[in-house]
Amino acid sequence: MSIREAFASAGSLWEQQPGLLRTIVCADEQPAVLRVDGVIRLDHEHNEVRLVADYDVSATISEGFPTDVPQLIVRNPDPSGFYPHAYEDGRLCLGVDGEMSLILARADNPLEAFFEEIVMPNLYAVEFFRRYRTMPFDDRSHGEVGVLEFYREFFNMDRDRAVLELLRIAAGKEGFRRRNRCPCGSGRQLGSCHAGAVEALRYNVGKNVLLSDCGIATSALGLTKALGAKDATRARLKGHRTHP
Ligand SMILES: [Zn+2]
Repeated sequence: MSIREAFASAGSLWEQQPGLLRTIVCADEQPAVLRVDGVIRLDHEHNEVRLVADYDVSATISEGFPTDVPQLIVRNPDPSGFYPHAYEDGRLCLGVDGEMSLILARADNPLEAFFEEIVMPNLYAVEFFRRYRTMPFDDRSHGEVGVLEFYREFFNMDRDRAVLELLRIAAGKEGFRRRNRCPCGSGRQLGSCHAGAVEALRYNVGKNVLLSDCGIATSALGLTKALGAKDATRARLKGHRTHP
């Protein structure tokens, strides 16, 4: 799907969010970039806490969409001063790249899914933090350890060495041979064990994203080994990884 098609088919998004203005930048040149600027109305409920607020945002959607996950800058209220998961320019750390790629790849309309399933929960977290100075979701660590945690969940596997090996196969750093023994330790062949999960990543997530997550998860494993999981999470809470 080209970004023009994604743009054109996101009708319900434009209807529900009339404050969002969309423009295609450099449409005649390559690569094209789509920008969605304006006011988005947050209206989201979690654990019976409903938050409603207006956020002035700017999303940049590159031609590699949906394999490349868009970036989101929040202009007002500027989260960089109070929210721990924002960069200085107001850009939000939206989540684990591979996880977001999977959400977008599986969606009927990836642009709507980006706003509904990724932007909204993130803005909810910003607004929740702005009001209560704590995060609304305590599901996963942030930064490098959070990336490793996502792949643990994805492969349903708590042995980190095996998680990394499966991720290396998905990223093409190691050969994908169905007859090889599966790294998870089940004793079965990869083809009748974790091959489906590996393939879901290979088909739905860009190789650059997988390679990048692979590097991050490898470094997270080093951290958790050196510091213990909790301290590693704490150590990375301040310094978010920078996106390429
Ligand atoms: Zn397996």
